[in-house]
Parts: sequence; C-alpha cells; structure tokens
Amino acid sequence: IEVDDEGDGDNRQRKRSKDVSLIAGHYNARPDVGAKQRLQSPIIGLKAFNNWIKAVLIGKFAHPALRDSPWSNGGKVLDLGCGKGGDLTKWAKAAVAEYIGLDIAAVSIEQARSRHAQMHNASRFPAFFAALDCYTHPISTVVPAEILSPPPRRPQDRPNDGPDVFDVVSMQFCMHYAFESETKARTMLDNVSRYLRRGGMFIGTIPNADLMLQRLLSLPPDAAPRFGNSVYTIEFDDRRPKDQRPVFGDRYSFFLTDAVEDVPEYVVVWEPFVRLAKEYNLHPVYRKEFHEVFQENQEDKEFGPLMVRMKVVDQNGESHMNEDQWEAANIYIAFAFEKR
Ligand code: SAM
Repeated sequence: IEVDDEGDGDNRQRKRSKDVSLIAGHYNARPDVGAKQRLQSPIIGLKAFNNWIKAVLIGKFAHPALRDSPWSNGGKVLDLGCGKGGDLTKWAKAAVAEYIGLDIAAVSIEQARSRHAQMHNASRFPAFFAALDCYTHPISTVVPAEILSPPPRRPQDRPNDGPDVFDVVSMQFCMHYAFESETKARTMLDNVSRYLRRGGMFIGTIPNADLMLQRLLSLPPDAAPRFGNSVYTIEFDDRRPKDQRPVFGDRYSFFLTDAVEDVPEYVVVWEPFVRLAKEYNLHPVYRKEFHEVFQENQEDKEFGPLMVRMKVVDQNGESHMNEDQWEAANIYIAFAFEKR
C-alpha cells in the first residue's frame, strides 16, 4: 500500500484537520428539513433512487445476516457515518435487536436521535447514538462496554476468537472520507471488523474511482481538472495518470445540488481497498455500479414494487430522474464484504 504524497510535517496536519472540520461543519450545518420539504428538493428523484439502492443492499445482504444472528431476538447493526438517521426506517423492516448509530457531526446525531424517538412503537428498535470521528477513534470510546460485550451463544455456534457483537456494519455514502490517510482507513476498518461476527456483513456505498479517474483523464489536455453537469461537479487538484496517484489522500472537491457543497472527499480505488480490507478479515462478495443494481433489481418481486413506494418511478414505471441525475447516480458503487 502506498502512502499519500503530500509530504510530512505541520502543513499536512493543518490541511487535514481543516478538512475534517470542513466535513463535520458541512453536515452539521445542513438542516433536517422534514419529510414534506424533502419532497421539494430539485434532486428528489436522485435522492429517492439512492435510498432505494440502500434498501436493496440492506435487503440483499443485511437481512439474511440479521436473520442468521446468534441473538435470539434479532440482530445488531452498527451504522458508521449514520448522519441524520435516514436509514432507520429501512432497518425497521428487518429484525433488529439493537442499532448503534455513530457520526462525526453532533448536530446530525441529535437529529437521528429524535427521528428514532418519533418512530412508531411497533417498528422502533432499541438504539444508541453518539458523535464520534470513527476514522480517528475506536468505537469503544463512546459505545458502552455492555453493548460491546458478546451475546450469549447458541449451542450450535462455533466459538469465535473475537467479540461477536454485530451482524451487520453499514457505511452509506461516507467511507471515502476515511481514505484521507492510511491511518484513518485502518482505524475505520478496525472499527468495522473488530466487533463484527464471522459470517456478518459489511455493506456500503462509495464513489466509483475507476469512473471518476476515467472521466478526469479523458478531459482535453488544456481543460481544468473538473467535470460534471447541472447536478454535480467533481474537481481534482491535478490530472496525474492513475499509476502516479496516491492510494490515500487523493483529494477532490465534490458538489451535489441541494446536498453536498464543495466538500473535500478522497478517491477509493477498489483493488487497494480490497487488499486492505482482507487484513481485517473482510472479503468482497459484491461490487456493482448503481446502474447495474437498478438493472438487476427493477423487475424483482420485492424491490420492483418498492421503487414505486419509494417514489423512484411513478405508477407507470417512469423515472423521476432526468439525464443529469442519472449520470450523477452512477458515480457510485454499492458493495458488500463478508467477515471470515
Ligand atoms: N449514511 C448517511 C446516509 O446515507 O444518509 C449519511 C451520509 S452523508 C453523505 C456522509 C456522512 O459521513 C455525514 O453524516 C458525515 O458527518 C459522516 N462522516 C464524515 N466523516 C466522518 C468521520 N470521520 N466519522 C464519522 N462520520 C463521518
């Protein structure tokens, strides 16, 4: 694994802590506008599509792991970078014995907590929320020891060397912020893997590095290192070829209408990510572009009708996204790893 090439010293440290506060500040400052106003977003179609993708990923990989949980009353979920708790209702559709939501943005955590409190009794599960920089500190800094102690085992389960607490760890649209440095990526993966049981799933969504770098490198030679459309803009500092780019700290600025305003993000190249994840006993079982997830599941008997309910398409199957939103949607990939 290469390290980033910014050089050592105070400058790099200053730049990084500025990035972290920019990221946390950005998400803290985004208002939780409520369900009604959310419907008026100019990218409502894209937001609905992203939500549907997460529901598919949770349905395909998290639900089976939760069903298979050694806990008798359902499984345990760790949601790193949970934001305002936008996935709580998706988790309510599975048997969840306990949900732990952590995020660096304290304001978002408050909003997630109140969203959880407002859930219907019938679908509400026990939950614990805390603010934490999950790429710098172990989750045990804020998650109480009672939660992180292994559940009583069923007689048929194999003994495990690690603490078997979570059945699923989810990182939606947030893991790429950890690729600022190798230390952060390792701390993140340690947080993912340490309490995940064997056979448990790590699921997530991240920008597609291959596609972004391909777009960047196919720009005309004298063009600025920037591409996008009316919905999103991605701007790099330079246009070095792929083999000269650092694995960690390959920074770009991301702008998404009504969602993300020029926040620093980091490229996650799939192969080095997979190699690093293996060191934490995490093995890839799924990697799909969002368009592929759509193509494979639009006719599915569970996820097809869900597209109408989640307002991805109307009753006639017409998409609520325009061309530019489709292009923005396909910047991302969905993944699943199994802990072995
Ligand atoms: N997972 C949520 C979702 O899908 O709706 C939120 C996604 S939002 C695009 C990215 C989230 O990552 C933000 O809530 C942000 O605060 C969080 N985040 C960024 N850096 C983080 C860090 N170091 N530790 C924990 N959360 C972080």
